[in-house]
Amino acid sequence: MSTDFDLCVIGGGIIGAGIAQAAALNGLSTVIVERKGWGSGNTSRSNKLVHGSLEHFSGMNIFRTREDLVERQILMRIAPDLIKPYWFYLPIFENDKRSSWSTELQLLTYDILAGKNNLPWHKKIAENEWRDLDGLNQSKLEAVYQFQDAQTDALLLTQELVRSAKMHGALALCPVNFDEAIKTADGYSVQVTKGSRTRTFECRFIANATGAWSSITAGRMGLLSKIPNAQYTKSTYIEFSQQLSDKRFFIESNHDGTRLIVMPWRGGTLVGATEKLFTGNPEHVKPTAEEVEKLVSTVRHHFPHFNNPPSQAWSGLGSKSLSRKQAKGLDRRLFLLDESRYLGVYGGQLTSYRILAEKAVINILRILNETIEDTLNKPFVSSSSISI
Ligand SMILES: Cc1cc2nc3c(=O)[nH]c(=O)nc-3n(C[C@H](O)[C@H](O)[C@H](O)COP(=O)(O)OP(=O)(O)OC[C@H]3O[C@@H](n4cnc5c(N)ncnc54)[C@H](O)[C@@H]3O)c2cc1C
Repeated sequence: MSTDFDLCVIGGGIIGAGIAQAAALNGLSTVIVERKGWGSGNTSRSNKLVHGSLEHFSGMNIFRTREDLVERQILMRIAPDLIKPYWFYLPIFENDKRSSWSTELQLLTYDILAGKNNLPWHKKIAENEWRDLDGLNQSKLEAVYQFQDAQTDALLLTQELVRSAKMHGALALCPVNFDEAIKTADGYSVQVTKGSRTRTFECRFIANATGAWSSITAGRMGLLSKIPNAQYTKSTYIEFSQQLSDKRFFIESNHDGTRLIVMPWRGGTLVGATEKLFTGNPEHVKPTAEEVEKLVSTVRHHFPHFNNPPSQAWSGLGSKSLSRKQAKGLDRRLFLLDESRYLGVYGGQLTSYRILAEKAVINILRILNETIEDTLNKPFVSSSSISI
């Protein structure tokens, strides 16, 4: 029996788009299915940083931070128009959870982990320059640091990856809903729907890149009992229509000490995020009044002159990486079922989409090569012969 595609990628966020592009580049005949719009899921809710997550950085995640900082450099090199460096300001106050010396040590480690030929190292801002920090509260201010990270346009990046995947022969279906997949001897029979039109095609392997919807989509493949339970973190942001500053700040929440970003956003200001575990329907994620209040009061505490009400608040969902045991020796963001020819992604980040896609495709190639050598050189129908 011939199959229409080597690989079917479900979900057109940054992770699905990255996997589809890497697969197409590696010669796999690929179809990617997205139900709403490219990058319209949690990718569109990201705050677009391409970074080593300084706000979460500790000795526990040093290898991941190193990988992310190397990725930051690679992405800035391969997509300089889309991924650009910016300075971020990090003020430290007397009552902050982190002292200025521990912050300095953290920034130094961050710079060292980034390695040679990466962004410039952090600096300490002289006290006589603090007045230029756009109304930052100077009472009990102990030190202000400046460091560089990068930012992108997540939607544009996702669209570019899909465009590149198409240029390398992939079929990109959007808006098309993935309905179900039924296991066959050679892979899967996949059913998708656009409006009232339903189509079925065959593929040898499925990559589930539906992020917060992964459990729902895996259930439609009959795999729910075989895959790990994903844990989700809800992140809440607020927006102001007024611009507080043209600078980007990381400030400590006066409630729980987490680091919040304050930055220019669509002509106004973005502040976030509060983070907490989320269970329930991903469609129903939304900010609570308490989360909004925590963010507003932290901004007012650090920028007392800025007493505008927020214009809107929103939440996004990110999944957590797997435990070492669940990942079975693989990267903790990937879950593979060799015999089911299934790959799921957990905890995918914008920053690490490229390296994750590369690791995913290496594993897919390995599984397809090892298990179905007899079909390796079979011609596949051209993607243009599938219409929906
Ligand atoms: C608030 C927030 C801020 C973040 N900020 C950053 C940051 O600054 N830097 C960083 O590196 N990372 C950041 N992240 C992490 C990262 O941006 C996201 O985790 C990542 O974009 C998720 O991408 P994804 O492709 O896995 O999921 P998504 O973008 O959610 O994509 C999944 C897609 O699957 C589609 N789908 C679902 N069901 C179906 C179906 N049945 N058929 C077809 N398609 C379906 C959805 O429509 C969706 O488009 C942030 C995350 C959040 C939540």
